Amino acid sequence: MTTLTTDIDSAPVDEERPLSALDRCDSCGSQAYIRATMGSGELLFCAHHGNKHKEKLQPLVSSWHDESHKLQP
Ligand SMILES: [Zn+2]
Repeated sequence: MTTLTTDIDSAPVDEERPLSALDRCDSCGSQAYIRATMGSGELLFCAHHGNKHKEKLQPLVSSWHDESHKLQP
């Protein structure tokens, strides 16, 4: 028997794609750990620049994908 979950917005969209070592910060070129998706496209940031721009960008983005926790030991 299959149990259906009722997750909202559970469709596997590009916003959920994990960041890889090939994704680079748009500000400094370091490996990106944060992706901000908005109507006009997406921006990639390292943890440093993601946190720096987060407050400014938060109202504009449709998705804030943050993998900076991977940096923690
Ligand atoms: Zn950066």
